[in-house]
Amino acid sequence: MLDADFFRRWMAVTAASVDREAERLTALDSPIGDADHGSNLQRGFRAVAAVLDKEAPDTPGAVLTLAGRQLISTVGGASGPLYGTLLRRTGKALGDAAEVSEEEFAQALRTGVDAVRQLGGAAPGDKTMIDALVPAVDALGESFDAAGAAAEEGAVGTTPLRARKGRASYLGERSIGHQDPGATSSALLIGALKEARG
Ligand code: ADP
Ligand code: MG
Ligand code: MG
Repeated sequence: MLDADFFRRWMAVTAASVDREAERLTALDSPIGDADHGSNLQRGFRAVAAVLDKEAPDTPGAVLTLAGRQLISTVGGASGPLYGTLLRRTGKALGDAAEVSEEEFAQALRTGVDAVRQLGGAAPGDKTMIDALVPAVDALGESFDAAGAAAEEGAVGTTPLRARKGRASYLGERSIGHQDPGATSSALLIGALKEARG
């Protein structure tokens, strides 16, 4: 079972891994974006870690809804509302249980990913974070390991795609040949699950 502590660790591990990879995320956002993805998420997840420390929410649902709200209010770029919606809607779907099973979490995360698809209008293959999140959710029923590998594969798989959503879509064909920064950060988020369980 997964409790509030697990979800707080998930957010803390994600914040640490975004800190570590911030330069790389910004470098990926340079040729096909505006070179701010690393700093956007670094600011956002640092704020998430801080508010979780301060308010110490005590259910899985409360941890993720608070984290999502914090991302929405601290990240100005496209990724803030999208990641914020992902976490907030996942948290809402978890309800107020003190512990949730991995299967319940996988279902809730699917609800969150669907909400991101609805908000941003991106489908798989559009070269966005959706290309890492959808395969991750599909593999989550199997294991955290499988989900992490699927997200990483999905992120790498965005390289040959032409962007159809977000800033990168303004480049048309010239977006081809670059890995999507948001899909790359989604792989960090999903990869952090395994480490959070310890
Ligand atoms: P901005 O583009 O506003 O500078 P970021 O650089 O923080 O925001 O985030 C860019 C990432 O957001 C992209 O790499 C892509 O994965 C994701 N993204 C952008 N628009 C959408 C969308 N409509 N749906 C899903 N993901 C999107
Ligand atoms: Mg950007
Ligand atoms: Mg920007």
